[in-house]
Amino acid sequence: MAEIPWTSGRILMREITLSGYLENVEPLRIGVGGQQLLTSIVDLAVIKVHLKGFEVPYIPGSSLKGSFRSTAMALVQVKGLTACSGLAKDTCVDKEIEHGVKLRDMIEQLIRTGDSAEAMRKFFENSCILCKIFGAPGYMSRIVFGDAYPMDNVGNLLNFRISKRTGIAINRRTGAVFGGALYDVEFVEPGTRFRFEIRCRNLPNYAIGLLSAVTRLLHEGGVKVGGFKTRGFGRVKVIDPEMKIIDFGESKNLRLRPLEAGVDMEVDVSDIVRIEDGLLIAEGEKAWQLLDRFEKVWWNAKIRGQGS
Ligand SMILES: [Zn+2]
Repeated sequence: MAEIPWTSGRILMREITLSGYLENVEPLRIGVGGQQLLTSIVDLAVIKVHLKGFEVPYIPGSSLKGSFRSTAMALVQVKGLTACSGLAKDTCVDKEIEHGVKLRDMIEQLIRTGDSAEAMRKFFENSCILCKIFGAPGYMSRIVFGDAYPMDNVGNLLNFRISKRTGIAINRRTGAVFGGALYDVEFVEPGTRFRFEIRCRNLPNYAIGLLSAVTRLLHEGGVKVGGFKTRGFGRVKVIDPEMKIIDFGESKNLRLRPLEAGVDMEVDVSDIVRIEDGLLIAEGEKAWQLLDRFEKVWWNAKIRGQGS
């Protein structure tokens, strides 16, 4: 029997959760959408949510997902592979694959005729690694980014401070100051810890390795979060990482089996994880070791260049 692609949601093979804190070491600003920065005096507020009677800043999961996807794109290219931009109408399912038929239409046709296994096979063969991990129109993401709040792991609010900085609006085209226009930029002061959680389902070891590489880059400052990145904003560190793995498959002796024949590689976690209620857990330094081990699989895996 042919291998069921890991992109199929029919069988639960593996669930991995990465959690911890993102602590900003530079001012952090994730703005409220739709604000313009040109006329008169404007306030550029940071996005906030009502929590336990307070208005608190947070990092939306969608914002983290965007940072992860764009960084993953760069890493895919470092490996000599290509991926689609993921933008509307420019994803892998928007491409014409056979006789001018778009992948999306072919998949829909197959599903209509009840052949969802073939639909999944077509998707798997014709879409890039990023569509498979982060989702594409009509195909659910294998990874979920939760909103990150300034909270500890039992739900208590953590300290944060929001400040403002005044800037002058410059016309980017002419370089002229807009009639003395000032704007106030809100930001979260460095030192704020945001609790984050990323959940992945059925990802092969090399795909977890790609996410591991992004996580490491985030921690090292190679990836920033939010706006004003070129003005010294947005650097975060990953504090107290924790990885939890549930493996439903036939992995033996704490060796996580490959989920894609000929491409993925086994990961031995026996010397890293502890076992608790059927979960494989690695915290702190152990979690970094585990991320590192997955990352090696990413760099070593012979990934086919589909979706290019
Ligand atoms: Zn794609």
